[in-house]
Amino acid sequence: MKTNVNSIKNGQMHLASINDDRTIMLEGARVHDVAAHPAFRQSAQTVASLYDFQAAHPEQMTFDIGKGKRVNRAWQWPRNYAQLVERREALTAWAEQHVGFMGRSPDHVASCISAMAMRADVFEAHGKGRGQALLDYYHYAREADLYLSYVIIDPQADRSKATGEQTDPFFTAAICDEDAQGITIKGAKMLGTSAVFANEVLVASLRPVRDGDDKYAFTAMVPIGAKGLKLMSRRSYEQTASSRFDYPLSSAYDENDSILYFDEVKVSWDRVFVHRNTAMSFAQFHTAPAHVYQNYQAQIRLAVKLRYLTGLARRVCETIGTVDFPQVKEQLGVLAAQAGMIEGLVHAMEVKGKLEGGGGPLDQGEFFIPDRATLYSANVLAQRLYPQVIETIRDLAGGGMIMLPSSAADFADPEIAALIGKTQHSPVTDAQGRVKTFKLAWDSVGSEFASRHTQYEMFYSGAKLFTAGHQYRTYDWDNATRLVDEMLSRYDLSTR
Ligand SMILES: Cc1cc2nc3c(=O)[nH]c(=O)nc-3n(C[C@H](O)[C@H](O)[C@H](O)COP(=O)(O)OP(=O)(O)OC[C@H]3O[C@@H](n4cnc5c(N)ncnc54)[C@H](O)[C@@H]3O)c2cc1C
Repeated sequence: MKTNVNSIKNGQMHLASINDDRTIMLEGARVHDVAAHPAFRQSAQTVASLYDFQAAHPEQMTFDIGKGKRVNRAWQWPRNYAQLVERREALTAWAEQHVGFMGRSPDHVASCISAMAMRADVFEAHGKGRGQALLDYYHYAREADLYLSYVIIDPQADRSKATGEQTDPFFTAAICDEDAQGITIKGAKMLGTSAVFANEVLVASLRPVRDGDDKYAFTAMVPIGAKGLKLMSRRSYEQTASSRFDYPLSSAYDENDSILYFDEVKVSWDRVFVHRNTAMSFAQFHTAPAHVYQNYQAQIRLAVKLRYLTGLARRVCETIGTVDFPQVKEQLGVLAAQAGMIEGLVHAMEVKGKLEGGGGPLDQGEFFIPDRATLYSANVLAQRLYPQVIETIRDLAGGGMIMLPSSAADFADPEIAALIGKTQHSPVTDAQGRVKTFKLAWDSVGSEFASRHTQYEMFYSGAKLFTAGHQYRTYDWDNATRLVDEMLSRYDLSTR
């Protein structure tokens, strides 16, 4: 693996890097150029704009990896609290570029891989050479500032059965062959968000794999353009958005989701980090701090999104003149509290963070890790809270998001434009300003794009029972039950 990038990665460099004859299926045909196709081109430009932003703000967004080369701070290994905060500020600045609507922006899986590599010793202990492969890959991906995506969940089929019990043993991606060169993967994985825009995909199993089902227990990196890798894209919201004015978010921030099918894809050993080891499906994400780092990034992004949605709610209320009603102020206050809670939890997980290190082969020293239990508090609460936030904004907006002209084209017709002027009034803006605000509001909370976002925030980190399980596992129960025991010890039947 060679790197040939000598300066900070910018948008044009990224778009050139994904023009690789990848196999994307959409609407009965193959997509040949993601950056040019009407289903993807604006969102590809948004991805490119993130890299342009980092190139324009090198101190804030990137760090020096030696020999004058700088890459995104998502790859940074924080050694103390100050470095963690500096890194978070970069991730926040990136999230502000898309107001939190690109869930799998390049900093998400970069955070995961970087955190896996912090504990390369765990991978090396599982299999000689696997930790070194991970560490080498981390340095390669970091130096090229690659955009990585991941598929770490078995596709839904029959959830009452284990992976190996499905009717087709290669329904879920599994190792179907291996030799001196590497492994061959066959089967499907869900759900490759942003995979169409990425350079590579991490394939792994986040959920526990049963003993005996070891062919599913592997972790590997696959270039999106690899022979045999097929991406089946869901419907593009960007393609059906009539204009930026009508669908300001769908048209430019549709990060896409694809089912990935591995049609006997060969992966060389230097890209395999876990090989037929069921215990590693837990250890790779939880002994190594990958799960905490990927979800910490998600909460940083969500804090920006909730700040945006709270601001949007206020603008909506100003636009229809309800903002000074006491009941409306109460609803806005609750929204602000919900946004503030997630932001506060991000700060709390940093303050309560601590140094963790490895041991054994490939020990990389100590790293500053956000507090796991606080991360899961945010995670568990956020997936329940997001639909409530959306419902509050819908409640505050009333029919204003629907009482709208059909499209931006209506403004071009003098007769219709005059009618818009007669029917769209607001105490704070003109007719066009009112329509613009409400079209943005609809695309944020009500459109198909917005609806997919509610599903995303409810599920991207796992169904509720799994995230709550992580909270259950990491919460300081002794400190909680100690209080109960102390109270119980203060009295008995004879106490008055
Ligand atoms: C928009 C979107 C983007 C995504 N992007 C990615 C991505 O980039 N990469 C990736 O790897 N994954 C991605 N995912 C997948 C995501 O990780 C999964 O949706 C999540 O882990 C839940 O799995 P599932 O969808 O199969 O739901 P399931 O696990 O099938 O759950 C569906 C329902 O059944 C219930 N249920 C399931 N099992 C049990 C049980 N044993 N006991 C009781 N109830 C149960 C759940 O509580 C839930 O209510 C994405 C998902 C969405 C919606």
